[in-house]
Amino acid sequence: MQVKPGETSRLLLERLQGYDFNKDLEETGTVIQIGDGIAHVHGLLGCMNGELLEFANGNAGMALNLEESSVGCVLFSGTKGVREGSKVKRTNRTMHVPVGRQLLGRVLNPLGEPIDNGPAFNTDKTRPVEALASGVTERQPVKVPLQTGVLSIDSMIPIGRGQRQLIIGDRQTGKTSIAVDAIINQRYTGVLCIYVAIGQKASVVAGIVDTLHRNNAMQHTIVVCSSSSDPAPLQYLAPYAACAMAEEFMYSDHSDVLIVYDDLSKHAVSYRTMSLLLKRPPGREAYPGDVFYLHSRLLERAARLSDDIGGGSITALPIIETLAGDISAYIPTNVISITDGQIFLESELFHSGFRPAINVGLSVSRVGGAAQTKAMKRVAGSLRLELAQYRELQVFSQFGSDLDISTRERLNHGAKLMETLKQGLHTPIPMEAQVIVLFNAKERFLKNIITGDVSRYNKGLVVFFKEKAADLLASIRESGQLSPETETKVRELCTAYAKGFRPSVSG
Ligand code: ATP
Ligand code: MG
Repeated sequence: MQVKPGETSRLLLERLQGYDFNKDLEETGTVIQIGDGIAHVHGLLGCMNGELLEFANGNAGMALNLEESSVGCVLFSGTKGVREGSKVKRTNRTMHVPVGRQLLGRVLNPLGEPIDNGPAFNTDKTRPVEALASGVTERQPVKVPLQTGVLSIDSMIPIGRGQRQLIIGDRQTGKTSIAVDAIINQRYTGVLCIYVAIGQKASVVAGIVDTLHRNNAMQHTIVVCSSSSDPAPLQYLAPYAACAMAEEFMYSDHSDVLIVYDDLSKHAVSYRTMSLLLKRPPGREAYPGDVFYLHSRLLERAARLSDDIGGGSITALPIIETLAGDISAYIPTNVISITDGQIFLESELFHSGFRPAINVGLSVSRVGGAAQTKAMKRVAGSLRLELAQYRELQVFSQFGSDLDISTRERLNHGAKLMETLKQGLHTPIPMEAQVIVLFNAKERFLKNIITGDVSRYNKGLVVFFKEKAADLLASIRESGQLSPETETKVRELCTAYAKGFRPSVSG
């Protein structure tokens, strides 16, 4: 029997259909140019964006520029040992990092390798570094508070679980301290924490790890560290890798996670370095055009999952450093528009001794209000307004000495409030104690206390309540409410404490 030519080609086509040509073939390419941590590789035709590439000497790289004749790739551990002509192998997978509970308490590099001289951990679970954020239907509104333990934040700029709250300010204004205090405050709340250091001095990160250890906060925390001496691609990778670790806790364990990105200004700079070396066209301030997407796709991964899929949340606290308080620069405005609010820190306040140096007027929280407890709302409702009035009157009072009584009272009250909001390092205040302290100030118990005594007065007040009315504190903590009966009791106790308080200097 004779087979027609048409028949043959049909048979051949049938056989070939559905055959995966890439299946058994390992695709390798050749380095055609190398330098500045970037390799251009020829011959990787099917290479995916973000794909992990393996160099002949074991170095890892990530494909970022997919061009017609070559692939631009960044190397994570420098270009040592890679030469023109070196072979590069595709791995057919994007970058993954190890995830899981074994990572808690450890200091890792952005590739997920321990750098704390501790034992190796054996987790076989990994997650992709770049992942799609959950969609609208998988989320629910933010309504559970994330207590930072910082009085001015919890009272006036409340943060909810699943929120993205920016911490912004000049250098050395206490940005990191606020984030670290928030982590320390999660000791007893069950919220897991991840601190991501991007482009910081290794000694500073070592100091932070030490602080976390000393305050018993390391057992619920992972530190992901890319120091300023690390290559730009590693710094670029750090927040995404850390976010993947957070996602494991959120999606698999349904835990609540707090993640601190310290800081995204340096992250943008590392991305700019990489992009310029990859010869991508520079835009405003020499950042590449997609620098907005760089941070939006990261911060969008913070979420509060709906109860249908088990709940869990990632709260993100990105940090941005400004120059001379300029919040209208490129990167600050970008991140302000992505996040759900910002905590604005000011050098002037910091140096005048008002610490944490939060400028309440410029700070907002767009969604956290719904997460605040009723008790806190009750005592902190008018706080913002009173402080704003105080600042306004303060300016006026500098000119004239003739002030009427009500103005003088408002000024006095404002000064006492400002003094109450001062808080030292690593001394988080629990919610119920915050409520008592603010109630006491609101009811003008501080009226006749001199400013120098306010801090001692407030500390003593909390101790007094702990001794005399522990059950009352517990009921505020558990119910989150300040019922009229409780309020009466709190007022009685405040009066009793005021009677027994001894001012340090008479008159
Ligand atoms: P950088 O720009 O270097 O990252 P930063 O804005 O993160 O600085 P921190 O490192 O948190 O600032 O704080 C700067 C200094 O201020 C530290 O020495 C810290 O101890 C001190 N400091 C911060 N907050 C307070 C506070 N509430 N009370 C007293 N000192 C504080
Ligand atoms: Mg800092």
